[in-house]
Amino acid sequence: MSLLVVGSVAFDAIETPFGKTDKILGGAGTFISLASSYFVPSPKVVSVVGHDFPSEHMELLRSHGIDLEGLQVKAEGKTFFWQGRYHNDMNSRDTVATELNVLADFDPVLPESYQDAEYLMLGNLSPVVQRQVIERLRTRPRLIAMDTMNFWMDTQLDELRRTLAMVDVLTINDSEARQLSGEYALVKAARKIQAMGPRFVIIKKGEHGALLFGDRKIFHAPALPLEDVFDPTGAGDTFAGGFIGYLAKTGDLSFENFKNAIILGSAMASFCVERFGTSRLQNLRQEEIYERVQQFIDLVRFDYESNA
Ligand code: AMP
Repeated sequence: MSLLVVGSVAFDAIETPFGKTDKILGGAGTFISLASSYFVPSPKVVSVVGHDFPSEHMELLRSHGIDLEGLQVKAEGKTFFWQGRYHNDMNSRDTVATELNVLADFDPVLPESYQDAEYLMLGNLSPVVQRQVIERLRTRPRLIAMDTMNFWMDTQLDELRRTLAMVDVLTINDSEARQLSGEYALVKAARKIQAMGPRFVIIKKGEHGALLFGDRKIFHAPALPLEDVFDPTGAGDTFAGGFIGYLAKTGDLSFENFKNAIILGSAMASFCVERFGTSRLQNLRQEEIYERVQQFIDLVRFDYESNA
């Protein structure tokens, strides 16, 4: 059940209609590993930070059992920084600043103890780095999932396609699925993306949930209707962490179990958006997670007698 997570470990500064933060702990790798730590004992992180990354953030990650042997600390550089501002509807945001810093020339190093990872989650990063990680593993993991974004489609489409051809699962949002496939209808978009490599495609639709495509089947997971969405940053990464963490925990890669995994991912994402940054993901109880899964079940369950 060992899980390897690759992704940014970052400082984020976030502004929403409800308030703003200074530099807080963020990054795709952070959200993925925190979410997955509720399902697997010690997710292994591959990432890089600078000299300015505080020890209390390291401690927080370690307190969740997260293995930081593959987290490089560059004495001469600064940690990746991202600043975003959400619009009033909370569905769209502007990137105010992206300072790559140590991420600019990130050369992923895989410690020997990471070599036997059975599950690999490639968070949104350069497709070249994502591929390097796959190539540096001596044994191909049982399941490789990746996330990406429009930036890589705009700037490194050929590299993205090469990496895509090597993975089993792609998580992507709806507008990016349309951009990558050139198809507006999401069913057609997913089919085209599957033809590029991944057997499973998960299209995230924010407050409208997520669609799973695979084995010629489709499944829809709703998003939980929440009274307050405080900060959506990292929701997609948290979804991915819950999803792959659940698959790694159960070891069942059937389409039926993928359905469960995207519900667990959606449940974890629903916690993430309730507070700024990672704060809601820091102290969850297992009962809270399973209560929330029950809310998903109740949300969509109904009795229909087809012969009534
Ligand atoms: P999400 O809200 O799921 O899109 O993820 C937001 C997280 O991704 C933030 O915590 C950022 O630090 C991180 N992030 C934003 N842009 C990038 C990028 N170009 N490369 C890596 N991580 C990024």
